[in-house]
Amino acid sequence: MRLRMLIPVLTVCLLALGCSNDDTASPAETGGPSSTTSTTTTTVPLDPKPGSPGVDGEALLPNAGNGGYDVSHYTLAIAVSDDRSSIEATATIAAVATQDLSTFNLDLAGLDVASVNVDDEPAGFSRNGDELTVTPEEALATDAEFVTRVEYSGAPQPVQDPSAPGTIGWLSAPSGIYVASEPIGAKGWFPGNDHPSDKARFTFEITAKNADTVVANGVLTSKEPAGEGRTTWTFEQSDEMATYLAQVAVGDYDLIESTGPNGLPIRHAVVRNVPADKREVLDLTAAQIEYFEPLFGPFPLDAYGLLVADAGPEFALETQTLTLLPASWLLNSDAEFTGMVMAHELAHQWYGDAVTPARWTDIWLNEGFATYAEWMWEDHAGVTPLDESVTDAMGQAGRWREAFGPVASPAAPLLFSPNSYEGAGIVLHALRKTIGDEHFFEVLQRWASENDGESVTTEQFETLAADVSGQDLTAFFAAWIHSDTLPVMPA
Ligand code: ZN
Repeated sequence: MRLRMLIPVLTVCLLALGCSNDDTASPAETGGPSSTTSTTTTTVPLDPKPGSPGVDGEALLPNAGNGGYDVSHYTLAIAVSDDRSSIEATATIAAVATQDLSTFNLDLAGLDVASVNVDDEPAGFSRNGDELTVTPEEALATDAEFVTRVEYSGAPQPVQDPSAPGTIGWLSAPSGIYVASEPIGAKGWFPGNDHPSDKARFTFEITAKNADTVVANGVLTSKEPAGEGRTTWTFEQSDEMATYLAQVAVGDYDLIESTGPNGLPIRHAVVRNVPADKREVLDLTAAQIEYFEPLFGPFPLDAYGLLVADAGPEFALETQTLTLLPASWLLNSDAEFTGMVMAHELAHQWYGDAVTPARWTDIWLNEGFATYAEWMWEDHAGVTPLDESVTDAMGQAGRWREAFGPVASPAAPLLFSPNSYEGAGIVLHALRKTIGDEHFFEVLQRWASENDGESVTTEQFETLAADVSGQDLTAFFAAWIHSDTLPVMPA
């Protein structure tokens, strides 16, 4: 359809038709307004320009994400080869233009692109590094909704982690593939706007051999034979999600299903070689949700569980509704440690996933919150008293700030330094001491409920804390997150 420049005009026509003729079928019934184009009287001239290859104000990872449009939905149809080494995929990306666009970029690393369509018309495309530039046949007007379809294939390659030695993205072990993308690994397996400022809903249609188990974010909505000994599993992630939180795992995983608080579906996927006694710790999930809900508010997503994979990179990741946990942690550490990591990643479902930093510099909003949650859980579980965790971090935080700078301005290689974790956990404790428990937990709950599905900034958090407490917290935040010297913990 070539409706893009005409959409504002057509809307008016349709409204007029709807008013004047009761017999006129609605656009939904007729499949769209294409039959009414003849009534067009005016067109607004466009001033199309290329969309930016990065996101404004993204200082840490300047090529992450793109400007000029806002994605609302991804459908990722991915067929994984029987040996799990390669994929044949179609990404269907629904977006809205935020400027008049002559071209726009998607982030994609590696893989072969066979075709790109925009609104069912073939579009031009070119590749330059990890930028896929799309040239639609006609320019897109500001506010136009458009659908981009990318057909691509190949063996997804891991992406170099800018924040640590090692690789991220689509990762494989003999037991199966899984995903760990934070911060910029999603571009290694699907084309998109790979930046946390542009959250979207996702549908996953994953086809794999019958013997494989498939899990992805959200809820399984169908499982259908796909012929040739293969099955297509469809998952809906109906809450907004950042690209770095997308998860797909295909392989030798056992599915363990149960029901949590308020009927929440809980499903874990555990690589088969983890013995039963090492899996028991996963049963803590329901108790942890029950512990956090009164503190943070209702669990914000429609399912939860852990994906225990043979993860090479030694980190856990709060992939939305389905946290990645390395099997080696379950196998080699005690239940207290695993329970602590589980509490951390669970807390991220509120802070990080439902509410997401708009810029990578705001990472303390993720890791400081999850760390403080982890400390509260350990206190509750009788593992370590909260004061001890705080005192321990305070003892080191002066050095962290000297080495890494202010909490709210990390450098890219130091995104996940202790300054973003324990060094930011103490900021929340200091805030609690400054505004009192009642206001503090009101801030935490409102932060989650008022920004559910959104991308947020540090400044917004400062404003909320000041509003809730009725205090001027300018000096507090200047000292605790914008300075490289460590203040004294309030009594
Ligand atoms: Zn974390």
